[in-house]
Amino acid sequence: MRPDGRASGAIGAAGRPRTIAIDGPVASGKSSVGQGLAARLGYLVLDTGLLYRAAARLAIDAAIPLEDGARVAALVREAGIEVRQSAAGDGPIVLAGGCDVAPRLGTSEVDAGASIVSAQPEVRAALLDLQRRTARRGAVVMVGRDIGTVVLPDADLKLYLDASAEARARR
Ligand code: C5P
Repeated sequence: MRPDGRASGAIGAAGRPRTIAIDGPVASGKSSVGQGLAARLGYLVLDTGLLYRAAARLAIDAAIPLEDGARVAALVREAGIEVRQSAAGDGPIVLAGGCDVAPRLGTSEVDAGASIVSAQPEVRAALLDLQRRTARRGAVVMVGRDIGTVVLPDADLKLYLDASAEARARR
């Protein structure tokens, strides 16, 4: 805390960070922390796992094999995936091919599919462009396992969250 009672550090100060990267393993709480932080700052939060889920959803709907990185990446670029906050504040809107696919991203099929497409370098490259374009607009909290290291190595603020094995197993 500074002598004038305002918070020290970048957050809370006038020169607050324009881009915030939150990394961490599965179930470390990074998504919840990212959402809370973005809500407090009035920033967009981009949970990048949603992008991989949307890529899987698109590929499944188009009957494209999830291992076919080149075709899934082409589909991703064509569809122009975009994440927005709903006005009602009840979760993200994930536009892909003009439709909100957010309600269709939580299935076990998409869960497994996202894991496969996220292992394809072409898909990662396609989504990397998208994530960097979003970051350039600023006022964004970006969450995901490679955000501070690969996607936004120059983020204004980088956070790494972890939790005990017990806490992660419970989630
Ligand atoms: O976090 P979530 O479960 O929504 O992520 C969906 C899939 O995308 C997971 O398999 C995760 O490992 C992968 N992913 C990734 N890189 C990111 C975010 C998620 O490979 N930056």
